[in-house]
Amino acid sequence: MIPVEFDYAAPETLEAAVNLLKENEGTEILAGGHSLLREMKLGRVSPLLLVDLGKIQGLQGIGLNRDPNGVVQIGVMTTYAQTANALKVKENYRALAEAALSIGDAQIRNWGRIGDIFAYHDLACDLPAAALVLEATFNTISPSSHRAIPAEEFINASFNMGLEPGEIVTSIDLPPYVTGTNSAYEKFQHPASGYTICGIATSIRRSSSGIVSKCRVAVTGAHARAIRLRQVEAALEGKAPTTKNIAAAANLATESVSISQEASKELNSLSNNYVSAEYRTHLMGVLTARSLTRATERVEIRSYI
Ligand SMILES: Cc1cc2nc3c(=O)[nH]c(=O)nc-3n(C[C@H](O)[C@H](O)[C@H](O)COP(=O)(O)OP(=O)(O)OC[C@H]3O[C@@H](n4cnc5c(N)ncnc54)[C@H](O)[C@@H]3O)c2cc1C
Repeated sequence: MIPVEFDYAAPETLEAAVNLLKENEGTEILAGGHSLLREMKLGRVSPLLLVDLGKIQGLQGIGLNRDPNGVVQIGVMTTYAQTANALKVKENYRALAEAALSIGDAQIRNWGRIGDIFAYHDLACDLPAAALVLEATFNTISPSSHRAIPAEEFINASFNMGLEPGEIVTSIDLPPYVTGTNSAYEKFQHPASGYTICGIATSIRRSSSGIVSKCRVAVTGAHARAIRLRQVEAALEGKAPTTKNIAAAANLATESVSISQEASKELNSLSNNYVSAEYRTHLMGVLTARSLTRATERVEIRSYI
C-alpha cells in the first residue's frame, strides 16, 4: 500500500530535531524505518512529518561517557550489528551483544537502530530483556527536559515506554563493568520471522568464594513487556551456582510472571497459531536454566584469563 502524503526533514543537530518535533503536529521520528514505514504502508500510522535522525552525528557510535568510572554509552542511532560487534559490548555486556545478534536477519541488523526498540512498543523485542539485566539507563531529550531513566522504569511504563510526545531517546548507558560478572541471552525464535517466542537474559556476579552475590534475570516474549523474574533471582543469590541450584531457581521462572491476575491474563492472550501460552511458559524455565548456566560458565572462564 502507498502511505498518505507526508513531509520529510533530516536535521543535522539534536536541537533542530527537538524544535521540529515541538513546532509540528503529527510528527514521527525516523530511525532505520523498518517498523515505521511498514506501519505507514498498512495505514496504521499516518504522520504529517518524518524527522529523520540519520544525519545527527552525536547519536551514533559506542564509547565511554563522561563518567570517570567507565560507563559505556551507546548512541541511539547505532545499528544492531555495530552494537553486537563492538568489543566493549562483546567483552563485558554479553547479554546485549547476543540479543542484538539474534534480531531478525542481516539486513535488519545492519539498518535497524537500537533506539527504536526501546521507543516502539513490541511484545517480542529482544533488547529490553538485556537492558533490564544489565541495568542500563536511557537518556532522553524533549523540549522541556533531559532525562536519565533507569531501564526498569522505562520499560515498565506502558505503551510508548514512557516517552512524552516529542521526546527523543539519545543514548543508552551501561554501568561500569564489575569483575566477577558476566551475562548471556537465550532465545527461542519464530522460524520464519526470527521474532522472539521467548527470550531470557541473565547476569551473574560471583564473589571470590564463588557464591552468587548478584543475579538478574529477565524475560521477553512471554509477557506483554520485558520483565524481571525476581523469584529466580532471589533463589540463586547467596548460593553456589551449581547445576542443581540453577535448575531449582529456573523452576520458579513461570511463577515470577503468573503471580498477579493481570499477568496471567496477559499470558493467556499469548497463545497464537504458532505457539500456545503453555509452551511459551515452558520455554521460560528451559531458557532460564540455559542462560544462567552460560553466564556462570563465562564468569568461571574469565577468572582464569
Ligand atoms: C523481518 C523482521 C524481523 C524482525 N525480527 C526481530 C527480532 O527478532 N527481534 C526484535 O527485537 N525485533 C525484530 N524486528 C523488529 C526490528 O527490530 C524493527 O523493525 C527495527 O529495529 C526497526 O528499527 P528502525 O531503526 O528501522 O526503527 P524505525 O522503524 O525507524 O522506528 C520505529 C519507531 O520507533 C520510533 N523511534 C525510533 N528511534 C527513536 C528515538 N531515538 N527516540 C524516540 N523514538 C524513536 C519511531 O518514531 C518509530 O515510531 C524485526 C523486524 C522485521 C521487519
